[in-house]
Amino acid sequence: MSHHGRIIPPGATLGVLGGGQLGRMFAIAARRLGYRIHIFCPEADSPATPVADRTFVAPYEDLDPVRAFARTVDVVTFEFENVPSATSDACSEVVPVRPAGRVLHITQQRLREKGFLRDHGFPVTPFRAIHSLEDLVSATRELGLPGVLKTASFGYDGKGQRTLRSATELPEAFTGLGGTEGIYEAFVDFAQEVSVVGARTVEGQFAAFPVFENVHAHHILDVTVSPARITPELEAAARELSRGILEALDVVGLLTVELFVTRDGRLIVNELAPRTHNSGHLTLDACVTCQFEQQVRAVCGLPLGSTELKQPAAMANLLGDVWNGGPPRWDQALSNPRLKLHLYGKASPRPGRKMGHITATANSAEAAIEAVRQARSSLQA
Ligand code: AMP
Repeated sequence: MSHHGRIIPPGATLGVLGGGQLGRMFAIAARRLGYRIHIFCPEADSPATPVADRTFVAPYEDLDPVRAFARTVDVVTFEFENVPSATSDACSEVVPVRPAGRVLHITQQRLREKGFLRDHGFPVTPFRAIHSLEDLVSATRELGLPGVLKTASFGYDGKGQRTLRSATELPEAFTGLGGTEGIYEAFVDFAQEVSVVGARTVEGQFAAFPVFENVHAHHILDVTVSPARITPELEAAARELSRGILEALDVVGLLTVELFVTRDGRLIVNELAPRTHNSGHLTLDACVTCQFEQQVRAVCGLPLGSTELKQPAAMANLLGDVWNGGPPRWDQALSNPRLKLHLYGKASPRPGRKMGHITATANSAEAAIEAVRQARSSLQA
């Protein structure tokens, strides 16, 4: 039976693969619109569970529980893209999966992802597949040093990647891949990192949020601000790039494009995520429609909401490190009455673990950044 073009109305049940903070915030948005939410994830105490109607706990590889989950929902979407293809395929035998398993398959492996982008004319840095030390030696000869060596699969937040600066590092770096497939990328001398969260419906309606400018610390997103400090031309080009990529992949749902802005003002795609994104969290407090509601609308066949940014805004992540000196001083941070606090309900604040975020709106991007930085440091003061 074809599900195409059918609206999945409020009151229906939405299924989510993954139970992290993105699933939690999706569930909250979906509930606000009157949907029921079922989560499938391997962990028993996931952040999404307390706000979901039902959680199925089993490994992604256990296809019987996956099918049982799929039979209880009207559509399946993702908050975590590194699920096996067999898992999304098993779901799609029962209900629509949005975005489709094919999108997941391409975006969960860097060589497939960059190959797809390059073959469709989207700008990516030159890259080579690495299966042997000889591959790495010739890749660095052809593309030059420095460059970035990454594991082709299952990398995020800088895990499994290192910057190579000299030929003497190559043997050790290759060993560091641990026998898995690698990708060597020419180094991008970027001035800024930005991202675009785009949404597309079954009918092909498209909407992108304003461009987010991202600052990383230790390979993890630290602060996002919007509007990005880029020219209007670059802002428009980034949003058009997002439209082109969602159309080329035939995405139904959300997809985030992470981009470099080079020092000479060009856009280069770094990676894709077929879902909501950490950099989009400020939409909860600063946009007419948040990224999670937009995901609900897109996967349910409803018209997309306005992505208008009502005011400049900045978001700062709260990692487990904020707990190092004892319980954070929430009272001090919230003494700024414009500050919005979001915590994900995670019990143990391990260093580097994303525990929550704060958002501030202000009259300028700079003032918003200053407000979240000040509030975050006051948590430990
Ligand atoms: P990724 O895991 O691909 O998202 O990369 C994490 C971070 O490493 C990016 O946000 C960049 O700051 C940096 N990075 C990744 N690839 C490159 C590259 N080819 N050139 C320069 N910096 C990079």
